Amino acid sequence: MLHAEGPLLTVDVGEHETTTTDVDDVLASFVGGRGVATKLAHDRIPFDADPFGPENSLFFTTGPLQMSTMSFTGRMNCTGLSPLTGGLLSSNAGGFLSRNFTGTGYAAVEITGESDDPVAVHVTDDGVEFEEVPELAGATVGETGEYAADEHGFGDDQLAVAGPAGENRVRFAAIMTTEHRAFGRGGLGAVLGGKNVKYVAFAGDSEPDIDVDPVAMDVHREAATADDHPMKKAGTTSVTEYANHVGALPSYYFSELEFDGAADIGGEAVSEKKYKKGTCSQCAFACKLPTRDEETGLETEGPEYETVMAFGSNSGVDDVVSVMKSNDLCDELGMDTISCGDAVAAYLAANDEFGNSDLIHDLVEKIAYREGDGDLLAEGVHRFADDLDVEDWTVKGLEFAAHDGRTLNGQGLAFATSNRGADHMYAEFYSKEYPLVDKDEAVDPEGLDGKPPLIVEKENHNAVLDSGVVCKFSRDFMTEERLEALLDADYDDLQAMGARVVELERHFNNRRGFDRADDALPYDLPGFEDALSEYYEVRGWNDDGTVPDGRISGAASADD
Ligand code: SF4
Repeated sequence: MLHAEGPLLTVDVGEHETTTTDVDDVLASFVGGRGVATKLAHDRIPFDADPFGPENSLFFTTGPLQMSTMSFTGRMNCTGLSPLTGGLLSSNAGGFLSRNFTGTGYAAVEITGESDDPVAVHVTDDGVEFEEVPELAGATVGETGEYAADEHGFGDDQLAVAGPAGENRVRFAAIMTTEHRAFGRGGLGAVLGGKNVKYVAFAGDSEPDIDVDPVAMDVHREAATADDHPMKKAGTTSVTEYANHVGALPSYYFSELEFDGAADIGGEAVSEKKYKKGTCSQCAFACKLPTRDEETGLETEGPEYETVMAFGSNSGVDDVVSVMKSNDLCDELGMDTISCGDAVAAYLAANDEFGNSDLIHDLVEKIAYREGDGDLLAEGVHRFADDLDVEDWTVKGLEFAAHDGRTLNGQGLAFATSNRGADHMYAEFYSKEYPLVDKDEAVDPEGLDGKPPLIVEKENHNAVLDSGVVCKFSRDFMTEERLEALLDADYDDLQAMGARVVELERHFNNRRGFDRADDALPYDLPGFEDALSEYYEVRGWNDDGTVPDGRISGAASADD
């Protein structure tokens, strides 16, 4: 099995100390990316750790395919204990950071401890530097990038940044990179900012030499020439009108599933604002969306479809420029647009203010700085739902993505089983229930019959992609045979590895008290409980949603 190469670098930002550890056995078993980071996090973060405590760690990782020139490999992974869900959580960002990270020569970088004052960490192939940066306290993502460029010559694509929201421990703060790209979900930006780390820079020329199968060139060529693929024009927003048409577009804080103004904020509207191609490193698919509004001069990237939902339909907003602005504010302040948009939508529902763009933009800023009502909203929907007397639209404390499970029932079950909470990319089952391009394996969105084994397969498959690291938008190009060739492994062995990753996450979360009661939805699906039991059975877990004793071995802090 192909795998990442290099040691683990541990950076203690409290003690300003570093250590390197040989992790070859972990790399050989878990490939790289999310797999390696999950195993390291499972074994090194205490089960009872406080997400905001010094004992929590962030593990940055890439995989062996970041050594290729293949499309869909411009992404990397970060794993830690989430302050939003309270569970182990991996997040995945695009942009250009992944190649700069591999240049350091490390397979994984662990950021641990807690600094008393704002600090920047420079990780290069020459070693690690710590720099006190009191002048960056409260700096936006853009201001932080300017500082790193002016003082040290680092580009935005070499940085992992905590914005003001991260510093203020907003529970859904993102780690930002390459200006507009985010390790978005689950609040890992609050972990980084909570450690008083303003940014981590990655640079060097010590990437390992890893041979990747020539099939990579076929994938790359097809990605470059797939001119008719809807995502090449409108990225993820290309699904908006279709999702609205089938009744899967959450609107007005999840009270409706269709939005009259969908055409004004969807794929056509966003692509009209797109002014050039946007991509991640090495990717010829180029699905990103650099956008500009000539009238206001606003220039940003996106919104992506999920942001169109959270700050558009779910907030009752049918103005694409308003959604662009919400998106841009979240990027500058360092927040996940899905959780932030849903939190704002909940506030609008409570105050009968849907569609009030001025209020929305004001709230986004107030959340980042924890001012006024923003302080409450910064805790996330699960923690403030009772205070505002709104429904708790979360799973495991994570706010819902779009692709509504009340219409796409398999995706609904997948929101519940996901160890990350209500995130669409964990199983990404929606792509089977309404494929953007014709595919043989499409399944009927209605009902749950026969779906639990398919969800297990998709979750495992995605854990493999996240370990490779391969972008999930490769789905129309990445066959099982190609994945076998790329990772030099039998597909069944790769699926087994993916299953081990999911199980480690589940085991960690079980030790923190998670069980079947946490695999729950805020709505009823016919046959849900039976399907959930079947899902556990396929995984070989107990019917209460826990991993049987004795299945996890070799961990320093695993079953005694
Ligand atoms: S498909 Fe899109 S998100 Fe994925 S690597 Fe390529 S440009 Fe980035």
